Amino acid sequence: MSLQVQSQVSLKPFNSFGVDVQARLFAEAHSDSDVREALAYGAAQQVPVLVIGGGSNLLLTADIDSLVLRMATRGIRVLSDDGSKVVVEAEAGEPWHPFVQHTLAQGLSGLENLSLIPGTVGAAPMQNIGAYGVEIKDVFAGLTALDRYSGETRDFNLQECNFAYRDSLFKQEPGRWVILRVRFVLDRIEHLHLEYGPVRQRLTEQGIDHPTATDVSQAICSIRSEKLPDPAVLGNAGSFFKNPLVSAALAARLKGEYPDLVAYAQADGQVKLAAGWLIERAGWKGFREADAGVHKLQALVLVNYGSATGLQLFDLAQRIQKDISARFNVDLEMEPNRY
Ligand code: FAD
Ligand code: NAP
Repeated sequence: MSLQVQSQVSLKPFNSFGVDVQARLFAEAHSDSDVREALAYGAAQQVPVLVIGGGSNLLLTADIDSLVLRMATRGIRVLSDDGSKVVVEAEAGEPWHPFVQHTLAQGLSGLENLSLIPGTVGAAPMQNIGAYGVEIKDVFAGLTALDRYSGETRDFNLQECNFAYRDSLFKQEPGRWVILRVRFVLDRIEHLHLEYGPVRQRLTEQGIDHPTATDVSQAICSIRSEKLPDPAVLGNAGSFFKNPLVSAALAARLKGEYPDLVAYAQADGQVKLAAGWLIERAGWKGFREADAGVHKLQALVLVNYGSATGLQLFDLAQRIQKDISARFNVDLEMEPNRY
């Protein structure tokens, strides 16, 4: 048996909120056979298995009475290259941002707008990670996952993943799939997405009129570093709430009342509101109670100033949800996965 199973392990280093809860059992998977061994071990001990990556989208509100399996598989390979499109496959445990940097260093574009997102390659499809107008569905070529119900591995194409805004089949069927490796179709010819948020403006400020994908990545890294707290310094899980999609009628009513409302019309007729704007407008930005708070620079990010518990963060999130519902008649949905 190559799997090393430890008992009663603190998960503080393994979640970006830095919440200190204990896992009953803990192991790291360095291969597909480690994953299978962990699932067999859990079944034999009658202990559930919780698969995690970098822990950057978790809210842990209690000790975890499970075998927590951290994906630590590594490996990046080119599967095909027609001189223009290149299919690259990465193992689930590869850290996301270094993987993005690796592809850019090979002259491959497509992932630059997703720079500096924490976590692992294997978790990226879970919520179809997105930033600055690009989601992984836009560069997705396929993935291989282990079906915990049947024990079989299965390859998924784009359509089969049901990707949507911060959503996927794998999120809709929690606990069923272990994502083992993910494939991306990247470009030797750059097609840059610069129209979203302050990206083009940042490049212009830097005197860059004809940016490369690497320039875009660097601009996005600098924008993100200014605005978002580094989890190594201040515990957080990025955006705590999804941006709500509301009817055009409600958006129009709110716009009448709040002319500076940040709202984006969607192709399906709904309107996406910036959850951060709603929370800031309601006065929560910079709020702090004990060690749980709302970030001073970005109201969408809840933070742990040191010793906040998952329950304190959850309680704060629920108070914000109630307040936003009462003020704006808008329901905010939490983004991190709560265990
Ligand atoms: P974890 O938090 O470990 O796990 C997340 C979920 O996926 C859990 O339910 C877990 O059980 C499951 N899971 C993990 N790995 C696997 C696997 N191999 N197979 C099956 N299930 C698995 N997200 C964005 O979309 N866009 C952003 O711009 C963004 N910015 C962020 C900025 C900061 C500062 C932080 C802290 C977070 C940010 N996030 C963002 C959220 C987070 O980084 C992503 O959701 C990331 O993909 C989570 O990866 P992880 O490996 O840390 O997953
Ligand atoms: P921002 O640029 O201040 O924009 C605020 C919100 O407006 C964002 O949530 C974004 O929605 C939306 N938006 C901005 N420009 C838009 C456009 N041209 N069309 C449609 N919607 C637009 O946001 P930010 O907080 O600094 O984050 C920047 C990007 O990184 C965003 O894409 C955000 O989603 C992503 N991010 C995600 C997380 C996470 O944990 N999920 C954490 C940090 C940053 P969208 O969120 O739908 O893009």
